[in-house]
Amino acid sequence: MYDSIVIGAGIAGSVIARQLAQKGGRSVLVVEKRDHIGGNCYDAPDRYGILVHLYGPHIFHTNMEDVFAYLSRFTEWNLYENGHQVVADVNGRRIPIPFNLNTLHMVYEERLAEELEKKLVAAYGEGSRVPIMKLRENPDPQIRDIADFVYENIFLHYTMKQWGQTPEEISPEVTGRVPVLISYDNRYFQDKYQGVPLQGFTPMFERMLAHEKIHVLTGTDAGELLRFGEKEIFYRDEKFSGEVIFTGALDELYGCCYGRLPYRSLRFDFSHLDADDFQDGRSVVNYTVSEEFTRITEFKYLTGQENADGTTIVREYPFAYAGKDGEIPYYAIQNKENEALYERYRLRAAQIPNLYLLGRLAEYKYYNIDAMTKKALDLAETLIKEN
Ligand code: FAD
Ligand code: UDP
Repeated sequence: MYDSIVIGAGIAGSVIARQLAQKGGRSVLVVEKRDHIGGNCYDAPDRYGILVHLYGPHIFHTNMEDVFAYLSRFTEWNLYENGHQVVADVNGRRIPIPFNLNTLHMVYEERLAEELEKKLVAAYGEGSRVPIMKLRENPDPQIRDIADFVYENIFLHYTMKQWGQTPEEISPEVTGRVPVLISYDNRYFQDKYQGVPLQGFTPMFERMLAHEKIHVLTGTDAGELLRFGEKEIFYRDEKFSGEVIFTGALDELYGCCYGRLPYRSLRFDFSHLDADDFQDGRSVVNYTVSEEFTRITEFKYLTGQENADGTTIVREYPFAYAGKDGEIPYYAIQNKENEALYERYRLRAAQIPNLYLLGRLAEYKYYNIDAMTKKALDLAETLIKEN
C-alpha cells in the first residue's frame, strides 16, 4: 500500500511526488495515462535525431530564485544569453514582439517615431509594460494610432486563431501576458532566468522521479486503479485514506456530469527539412496577420542542438477541444461562465477530504512551468506539515 497517490506526471505531479517522497518520507504512486512522463513539457529526439517538444515549444523562464534552485537540482541549463526572442511575421516583414521601442522605430518613420517614443515614455514611464487593452484606452490620438497598429497587426488575428474569439472577448490577463514594452528590450519574457534544461526536459523529469520511494506507472489512466465516491476514494476497491493529488481535467474526473469545461486544443504539424536553416536562426516566428497556424518553432534554435542534420519545425493549429479520442485539453478558457462551471466541480471534489487539486488542468488556470513548480512545492510543504 502507498502513502500517497499522484495522478499525472507533468511538472505539478512530478514535483509534488518528489517532495512527498524525499521530504515527507512517503511512499508515492504516480499514475500517468500517457506512455511517458513530463506531461506537456515532454521532449524526445525525432527520427532525424533532432530534439523536439511533442506538445509545443517550452521555454523555462522565472524570476523565482527558489524555483530555479529547486529545478537546478535535477538539471543543468542552457540559459539564453540574450533571452528568448520572438518576431511577428506581418505579411512577410518581421518585427520584434512584444511590441517595443525597437518595433516602434521599425514601423514609423524616424522623426515621428522619436516623437511617439517621447509621448509613450511621458505617459507610462520608461521601462513600463502596458497591456494592449490598456493602451487602446489612451485618449491621445497618436498613442491610439500605435495601439490600433499593435492591435490589428499583432493581437487581433493571432488571438482569433488561438482562442476563436477577439481580444475583447477573452480575459484581459491573456493578452496582458505580452504587453507593449516602453523600452528597447527585444526579449519575449523579462525574467532573470530563461532557457531550457541542457539535456532536455525529459531527463530532468526522469531524475526528479528517480527516488526509491516513488513508483511510476505510465500508460495507466487513474480510472483503472481508483474510484472516486462522494466522500471517499477507493484504490483497487479498498478505501484509500492517504492523500491523492489530482493534476488532470476535473470535469473528466466526474464524467463531465455538469457539462464539459471548455478548453482550446492544438494540432502540431511537424516537418523535417533537408536544409540547414528555415527561419534565419530564429526559434519562434509568430504569424500574426496571415496563415491558419499561429506560429512556427524551429527546434534546434530553441534547444541549442549543434549536431542537427537538417532542421525540424512545427506549426501549431488551434481548435476547440471536444474530448474526442486523442485530443488533449491545453488551454482553459477563463471567463465568468466557465469559472462558475469549474466551481461546481471544485465544490464536489472538496467533499473528499484527502483529494487535492493541483495543476493547470485541475485548477483550470493558465500557469507557466515556474508558477506550477512553486504551487507544487507549497502544497507539498502544507501536506507534510499537516501530517
Ligand atoms: P500537464 O503537463 O498537462 O500534466 C498533467 C498530466 O496528467 C499529463 O501528463 C496527463 O496525461 C496526466 N493525466 C491527466 N488525467 C489523467 C488521468 N485521468 N490519469 C492519469 N494521468 C492523467 N510554460 C512555460 O513556462 N513556458 C513555455 O514556454 C510554455 N509553453 C507552452 C506551450 C504550450 C503549447 C502549452 C500547451 C503550454 C505551455 N506552457 C509553458 C505551460 C506548461 O505546459 C504548463 O505550465 C505545465 O505543463 C503544467 O504542468 P501540469 O503538471 O499542471 O500539467
Ligand atoms: N498574442 C497575440 N499575438 C502574439 C502573441 C500573443 O495575439 O504574437 C496573444 C494571444 O491571445 C495569446 C496571448 O497573447 O494567446 C498570450 O500569448 P503567450 O505567448 O503568452 O501564449 P502562450 O503561447 O505562452 O500560451
